[in-house]
Amino acid sequence: MRDATRIIRSTMTVARPGEPTHDGPVFAAAFHTPGDVEGVAYTYARSHNPTWTALESAIAEIEAGPGYEAQALVFPSGMAACMAVFGAVLRPGDVCVLPTNSYFSARLLLQGYFTEMGIQLRQAPTANDAQIDHLEGARLLWLESPSNPTLEICDIARLAAAAHRSGALVAVDNTTPTPLGQSPLALGADFSVSSDTKSMTGHCDLLAGHVATRDPALHAKIEHWRTYSGSILGPMEAWLALRSLATLPLRLERSCANAQRIAEYLALRPEVASLGYPGLPTHPGHAIARRQMRSFGPVLGFALKDRATAEAFLAASHLLTQATSFGAVYTTAERRARWGGDAIPEGYIRLSAGCEDIDDLLEDIAQALDAAARA
Ligand SMILES: *Cc1c(COP(=O)(O)O)cnc(C)c1O
Repeated sequence: MRDATRIIRSTMTVARPGEPTHDGPVFAAAFHTPGDVEGVAYTYARSHNPTWTALESAIAEIEAGPGYEAQALVFPSGMAACMAVFGAVLRPGDVCVLPTNSYFSARLLLQGYFTEMGIQLRQAPTANDAQIDHLEGARLLWLESPSNPTLEICDIARLAAAAHRSGALVAVDNTTPTPLGQSPLALGADFSVSSDTKSMTGHCDLLAGHVATRDPALHAKIEHWRTYSGSILGPMEAWLALRSLATLPLRLERSCANAQRIAEYLALRPEVASLGYPGLPTHPGHAIARRQMRSFGPVLGFALKDRATAEAFLAASHLLTQATSFGAVYTTAERRARWGGDAIPEGYIRLSAGCEDIDDLLEDIAQALDAAARA
């Protein structure tokens, strides 16, 4: 079966006459467990929940590839998923290689708590596979491609092979493309990590994350971390996420096509000082992105002259909702430097294309750029 069919069907409940085609959320702390608990599927809901099981098997369908199966574990946020890999893998004295431009909160967690606990960090940029020179003796290589918010690309297969030669495990924060747009596990990563708050669920109404693996022993390590740290997703969020996943193929196809058209339009506008979108042939990582991505993602970044111009542009737009997330059905944008922490110009805008009609988006962006030029 092709992706869209497989994903949509995987969100349905196993057919039982008279039962719903899509089960509701299971709200439970404890399950009936008389006598011997050996082999009982559900006992206590910090360990397992049938709504997670349904969501995890649907996510595993997306993470699986030709010739391999995947397993997934869900978490209450993308950061909880990142933390599960850091916490389950890193021990005092270990070296973790991290992109200098990886997601801000992941960097903060490692630079703060983990460094204080005796983990050594080595940092290098995402572009040009710069991390490859820092792998000797490393325990974990953390990658993010495209990186957020600067959309740099690295060659995941090349870096994963080099890391494995050095005896390191490899995790990819795959939030921006989603596993439908890029398969880290097929490219050799040990962990595919995602904030499912973004495109995976796509409605900006819940936080969630997941970690997928091909290796049952690594899966067990992550599951052990989740059960004993108590970092668990609520059943209502799990159910909403499962419901949202059915439209992922449709949403991603439209939002990536819209992002490509917006990037092509911005490339023609003289006010746009720099523009990053892996789908543009002018992007330095385009050739690698074409090889390793099935779609180039909904997110693009561009710089206007300065902070005032960027603010005037966003204020003049009617269809770019200012919000600090991405991957929603509606288009969002923000002046990213307002948060600090990333090496980007003051006029840098991160834009996440939604599923609206592209002509409305292009007309709105055109008029907002004109208004900003007059301001
Ligand atoms: C948002 C995001 C995260 C963190 O996810 P939350 O769901 O907000 O905890 C991690 N990595 C990347 C690349 C993200 O965009």
